[in-house]
Amino acid sequence: MTAAYVLTKSPANLDVNVYEASEQVGGLSRSLRLWNQIVDLGPHRFFSRDRRVNSLWLEVVGRDYVMVPRLTRILYQGRYFQYPLQAMDALQRLGPLEATRCVASYGAARFKQPKDYCESFESWVTARFGRRLYEIFFRTYSEKLWGIPCSELDSDFAAQRIRKLSLGAALKQLAVRRKNNEHRTLVDRFAYPNGGTGQVYERMAEMVQERGGRVHLGAHIKRVVASAGRVRGIELYSDEFVPCDAVISSMPLTSLIARLNGVPERIREMARRLSYRNTILVYLEIAGELDSRDNWVYVQDPGLTVGRITNFRNWSPSLYGNSPNTILALEYWCNSDDELWRRSDGELGRLGADEFRASRLASDAADVLRSHVVRIPKSYPVYQRGYKDILRPIQEVLRSVEGLQAIGRYGAFKYNNQDHSILMGILAAENVAAGTAHDLWQVNSDFEEYQEACRIDETGLVPAPC
Ligand SMILES: Cc1cc2nc3c(=O)[nH]c(=O)nc-3n(C[C@H](O)[C@H](O)[C@H](O)COP(=O)(O)OP(=O)(O)OC[C@H]3O[C@@H](n4cnc5c(N)ncnc54)[C@H](O)[C@@H]3O)c2cc1C
Repeated sequence: MTAAYVLTKSPANLDVNVYEASEQVGGLSRSLRLWNQIVDLGPHRFFSRDRRVNSLWLEVVGRDYVMVPRLTRILYQGRYFQYPLQAMDALQRLGPLEATRCVASYGAARFKQPKDYCESFESWVTARFGRRLYEIFFRTYSEKLWGIPCSELDSDFAAQRIRKLSLGAALKQLAVRRKNNEHRTLVDRFAYPNGGTGQVYERMAEMVQERGGRVHLGAHIKRVVASAGRVRGIELYSDEFVPCDAVISSMPLTSLIARLNGVPERIREMARRLSYRNTILVYLEIAGELDSRDNWVYVQDPGLTVGRITNFRNWSPSLYGNSPNTILALEYWCNSDDELWRRSDGELGRLGADEFRASRLASDAADVLRSHVVRIPKSYPVYQRGYKDILRPIQEVLRSVEGLQAIGRYGAFKYNNQDHSILMGILAAENVAAGTAHDLWQVNSDFEEYQEACRIDETGLVPAPC
């Protein structure tokens, strides 16, 4: 949607068409109306330090947003820990014996780093936090999410999501009380559209159409046609062929490779080795409100299958309107051949209700009124060790097709947040409309450093100190 939005603003007067397989725009960031409330597909916090991304978001949303105070915690063995992990909070809640073990194991990790400490998620986290904290706070959640042992998971996942956190830095921060609390406050509030996260993309679709672009819903692309080294058009499941000069694809990268003609069988075979994880969202309507103020909770408890619980009542009053009740979304992750994926909605609703009670987010008396299930295939690209060796030749093949760009979360096989996908959309559109040569594979790859970092607050765009 971002690419179409930018292309229809271009003075180049392009004929822009969006083909969306489902009946609604927004993809994983769409919002739904449920039981007279608005919900997202799990938590969707928008955050960026990139001026281009934030400016575009504000241009679309206008002043129709609120700043949401962020509270997220980790549930481990019936206790709630602050997230992002804070050294003193974690050590205090673990108790003196466990805290001593954690500090000793952290010391040991600092003293002797494993040779492969940059390669797997397990060694990356262990080197920074020590094995004990890794086992408690990182392993269970990550293995639930990815479905493979953390030793098999590439460290890219940690590098993209955990970044500069380390127990050493946290302990230092405790010793030297920082005068400037800016870093915390930056991430402690985030801008959220009054109509739910999907409002951003619904508005983009409206604006695209107002400017003469077309958004075709229920339009599933069957084939991307290329010949003599350049893209020629797309074919829909209705067998209609649409000729075009440029295709910006955000369908799963594996699907694109399967649907693009002329790709060598060796590359098709490689693409089949890339895998995605599915999400099942079990929404529960709970009578009344919960005491907890968390926007969402990470469930590290190995005894529970659920990985994360979102409480939409703690996002914005505009989501629940007049309803007195609370909607929670419980996230379950699995593969398509897992028994969980095949369970009926009723069974999943019961599992969600049981696990909600076991999480102790509310007292035993909390009344679960009804449930609703949404299944999302291919929601997480799995960064299995070695995946970059598979991606490289695939990227080369795609680069060789003039006019074709693969972007987005499953489109480029990147563990993107909205901001990364928006940036990819902006850059892809510039490549088409302005003839730039942005390398989209670099987005969300390195630690981004911004020349003019900025953020959104209630007044609009403001500079953000680095
Ligand atoms: C549970 C969960 C929580 C998240 N939390 C956050 C968060 O807190 N903050 C944040 O910023 N991001 C979050 N994200 C990530 C965010 O949702 C994605 O980064 C973003 O939606 C990706 O946008 P995209 O356009 O790249 O891909 P998608 O949203 O996946 O859109 C791809 C679109 O392509 C369509 N499509 C696929 N195949 C075809 C085809 N053959 N023909 C036509 N159309 C096709 C799909 O229907 C879909 O609409 C979360 C994601 C999940 C799953």
